[in-house]
Amino acid sequence: MASGIAYLVGAGPGDPGLLTLRGQECLQAATVVVYDFLANPEILGHAPTASKKIYVGKRAGQHTLSQDEINALLVKEVSVGHQVVRLKGGDPYLFGRGGEEAEALQAAGLPFEIVPGVTSAIAAPAYAGIPVTHRQSTSSLTIFTGHEEPGKAASALNYRALAQQDGTLVFLMGVSQLDAIAKRLMEEGLSAETPAAMVEWGTTPRQKCVTGSVADIASRAAEAELKAPAVGIFGEVVSLRDTLKWFDQRPLFGKRVLVTRTRKQASELSRLLRQLGAEALELPLIRIEPAQLAAPLQEALGALNTYDWVMFTSPNAVEHFFEAFYNKFSDARSFGGARIAAVGPATAKMIRHYRFSVDLMGDEAVAEGLLEALVREQDLENVTFLWPKAEETREVLQQSLEDRGAIVDAIPVYRTVAETEFAPETMGLIQEGGIDLVSFASSSAVEAYVQSGLKLTPQPLFASIGPITSAAMQKHNLPIAVEAEEHTVPGLSQAIKQALRAAEA
Ligand code: SAH
Repeated sequence: MASGIAYLVGAGPGDPGLLTLRGQECLQAATVVVYDFLANPEILGHAPTASKKIYVGKRAGQHTLSQDEINALLVKEVSVGHQVVRLKGGDPYLFGRGGEEAEALQAAGLPFEIVPGVTSAIAAPAYAGIPVTHRQSTSSLTIFTGHEEPGKAASALNYRALAQQDGTLVFLMGVSQLDAIAKRLMEEGLSAETPAAMVEWGTTPRQKCVTGSVADIASRAAEAELKAPAVGIFGEVVSLRDTLKWFDQRPLFGKRVLVTRTRKQASELSRLLRQLGAEALELPLIRIEPAQLAAPLQEALGALNTYDWVMFTSPNAVEHFFEAFYNKFSDARSFGGARIAAVGPATAKMIRHYRFSVDLMGDEAVAEGLLEALVREQDLENVTFLWPKAEETREVLQQSLEDRGAIVDAIPVYRTVAETEFAPETMGLIQEGGIDLVSFASSSAVEAYVQSGLKLTPQPLFASIGPITSAAMQKHNLPIAVEAEEHTVPGLSQAIKQALRAAEA
């Protein structure tokens, strides 16, 4: 059996992009992942699907493991030979009890490595526009825990020293003690006018920042109903937020968009929306499977060199076609001399991914556009087409080509199937915070959304990628807030931006 090891990995403060490369590498090789509340669950996606994921974090009202139990769990999993990633919010050695876990592994004679992370103590202020030091005003930083009651006689913290140091003070775990901490620091000599800020859920789409002075930050935070997790900052650097704020200024900050695509396709739209500042929740309503009948495709592949054109109307069709092609042939030249047509840029991109070039592309990324381009290209009398497509794709294109004398073999290579079970974390978020906009990138996603019976209150806006999708929405009485001008994923993200900003105005 492989010998076990534990990696204590910092997951970063929340933004999944702030995981380190080394952390990602450890996750990719993990057989067991032990994680808690502050580690963004999205980061778990880097771990192999087959790995065991163990939640040990604290969440109100839920059973939690004690620190001793967590230590024992790590020792147990490593000693039976697992590659264990202990994923911890922020940095594992800053108020994360990582030291105790490493000691337990060391005492048991088991190997461990530390993968430092981006700590919330510095990253949450940074995302709020607050650099923790600044050459002009501040040349030191002190990080302390706000967990202790400042009144407690045997407090391990020297508040006098904290109040009298000259630089920035950052404290974690201090929301419930904020009032007491601020008072105690003022008693010990910190000026009441010192700028102060609290940053809740820093670096995430839920980030909230409250500013004031040491004298009034507690009442302002209470008024804004600020809750844990939050980082507190006292010091001159807080005033830089006015000029340096950026994260919460992006166009769609604070907006929540439901992305209804297959899990694999969803990522590009989500990435574009996140760049605009939105929170993108992926709800995979459909999944893609190979077509039920494999024989027609095998037959067509056997006769590939007899076609004038191979025509693709979706990236999925390209993928399923070439998977089957390379399963059957080991030489790309087996494709023969057929020319290749693509309905639009996303399909063309997928074709190029397989190192084939695209001879012809439609103008508008819809079947009619492709037909027009073909008609312009040549007389279609007796021209032969192979059309690998979805089981459920409309036959209109085939009909129109045949009307012009072409010979079309339409071969189903994949099908879309409705998902019926949704991730509980996503459903929880939806119920908790509502959804501002639901995006549809295909008519099958619209059908699947309606079938899922999902009811969203208050009613969100609905956005469509193009006319076919819009028609499906109309059929089900879903009001169309916006339809993308360019029927592509980037076009859809632009349309979503317009719709949400218009709703704001
Ligand atoms: N090891 C972690 C800190 C763990 S202690 C790190 O380096 O960030 C838990 C405290 O971290 C919380 O009470 C809160 O004060 C802070 N914290 C963690 N993530 C945060 C976030 N996204 N925004 C604000 N504070 C956060």
